Amino acid sequence: MATTKGKIGIQTENIFPIIKKFLYSDHEIFLRELVSNAVDATQKLKTLASLGKVKDELGDLTIHVEIDKKNKTLTIRDRGIGMTADEVDKYINQIALSSAEEFVKKFKTKTEAEKNAIIGHFGLGFYSSFMVSEKVEIKTKTYKKGGATKAVRWECDGSPEYIMEEIDKKDRGTDVILHIDKDNTEFLEEYKINELLNKYCKFLPVPIQFGFETIQEPIEGEKDKDGNPKTKEVKRPKIINNTNPLWKKSPSETTDEEYKAFYRELYPYTLEEPLFHIHLNVDYPFNLTGILYFPKVKKDYEMQRNKIQLYSNQVFVTDSVEGIVPEFLTLLHGVIDSPDIPLNVSRSYLQSDQNVKKISGYITKKVADKLAELFKKDRKNFEEKWDDIKIFIEYGMISEPKFYDKAEKFALLKNTEGKFFTLEEYKEKVEKIQQNKDKKIVYLYASHPDEQYSYIQNAKERGYDVLLMDGVLDPHFINTLEQKFTDITFARVDSDILDKIINKEEELPSKLDDKEKEKLKEIFEKNIDKQHFEINIENLSESEMPVTITQNEFMRRMKDMEKVGGSPMMGMGSLPETYNIVVNANHPLVAKILNEDTEEKQNELVKQMYDLARLSKNLLKGKDLDDFVKRSIQLVD
Ligand code: ADP
Repeated sequence: MATTKGKIGIQTENIFPIIKKFLYSDHEIFLRELVSNAVDATQKLKTLASLGKVKDELGDLTIHVEIDKKNKTLTIRDRGIGMTADEVDKYINQIALSSAEEFVKKFKTKTEAEKNAIIGHFGLGFYSSFMVSEKVEIKTKTYKKGGATKAVRWECDGSPEYIMEEIDKKDRGTDVILHIDKDNTEFLEEYKINELLNKYCKFLPVPIQFGFETIQEPIEGEKDKDGNPKTKEVKRPKIINNTNPLWKKSPSETTDEEYKAFYRELYPYTLEEPLFHIHLNVDYPFNLTGILYFPKVKKDYEMQRNKIQLYSNQVFVTDSVEGIVPEFLTLLHGVIDSPDIPLNVSRSYLQSDQNVKKISGYITKKVADKLAELFKKDRKNFEEKWDDIKIFIEYGMISEPKFYDKAEKFALLKNTEGKFFTLEEYKEKVEKIQQNKDKKIVYLYASHPDEQYSYIQNAKERGYDVLLMDGVLDPHFINTLEQKFTDITFARVDSDILDKIINKEEELPSKLDDKEKEKLKEIFEKNIDKQHFEINIENLSESEMPVTITQNEFMRRMKDMEKVGGSPMMGMGSLPETYNIVVNANHPLVAKILNEDTEEKQNELVKQMYDLARLSKNLLKGKDLDDFVKRSIQLVD
């Protein structure tokens, strides 16, 4: 064949400038595209060989990536099936081009957000090399006829014209040589190529060699003075990928140690070990493999998202999996590999894709099953891990009804003494304590056990149990549980006087008459911050505190929601922080106030009690605190 010049079959306009300009944001994916092509060509060769259709020895099939700084080229070389001249014409000049054209066309009509979703996913293929090159060469020799056919060189400089000619090439397979343009010289840097190979090609199924590494090799027959073999430094080609990633292995043949080692391979910068893992493995009705790890979820859980890596046949696609797995699962780490996830589409499409829905449902179920199994097998161990997995399980229960249905059986509630209960066990326990048949039962809880210490103590002394609900998601989790169990209601220990929270019927007789109560209220109102506190005189038992500060459960929840920006009363202005001051009419100290002979003394006593109550709720600050300390010293004097 003589040298032929041709014009590649462009329908509408020259796509090269578009490839170069429009797709600037994710130039780096060209390397993944080219290496994937090399892998495909190698895998095809292996398949053909296994069918007895290859005459040549397969030999070493390693793919090589090489930088030539002097000539400003980057070469991707494989020993796969190669192409004949006709095939180059068909696959490169026509098919690859038209799919690139298609891609570019689709791309041009997309919004910015959709563009970002497509780029980085598959689509552009071979022609993505023009994003970084002023000229691209292919030298290829087919496996056919035992390689007796001539090899072909194809060249294109980013104008629609190409050159094709016959050349001599020793080896079967394809070299793709990129003449890197002056705007993209970073792709001639070893560190950059290393980084990209690591990101996109780390688990490809064919060995990929790039650069060299130095290792210590034992020298045969030589020992040092301690009798250990002597070593010498040896430089050898470096294989950058693990061709046999653990998720491809069968779960029954994989050891715990291997799972942990693989976690370290995935996240070399994470020191913490995962809590446990789930090995995913299905081939019907869709194809999916992978390993998910439960990390120790920290308080700043947002930081830990986006650690799941998505692969398509071992090619890295993305590490933002929203839309593919339910949101709560994005807290997990690990890999998912599926050729059935459509990659070349926008996120909104992904979310409505039936396959994606099935996959997401499957993963949710698997995760729930694994947790159920852990709980059943070793409850003590599960309890020990609870604090670390709680946020994850609560998140799932709040956001995924299907997950809730399964998790209901293993979700735990922890009380302020550190004891654990399933939802069912706890309900039984509280029903026994409260025994008020026709009313809702009340789950008392503390959100900040240190700040609510005296309230917790009081509740415990009265025989009640107090839950610890101090997690970031607990306020939402409480709402979810209240919706699911219509006969229970949650109340924070400091939301009211205990008897009122628990709805005791019988009211205690009062030691004060109405006039005295009125007087008492007057004195208090003179001495408190009326904007934030409201006085309630109640007939409580003598053993209750003389003055207690409570905060209405409903108002506080509204306030909390407002803080995180989700108040249903938004737009009505900020809610004031308000508290109740409950004065125990039956406490001897309260009677003492009324019996003081001067107004001054009454005020002093009231202030002192008001301050003490505020102090125990951590509400006494600044000048008020200073005044309190000074007054206390005087009183002790
Ligand atoms: P895709 O890989 O999605 O088919 P590409 O544009 O990347 O699209 O490649 C087009 C075609 O060119 C491939 O399908 C393949 O037939 C051929 N090809 C590309 N690279 C190679 C290679 N390294 N060896 C053999 N054939 C190749």
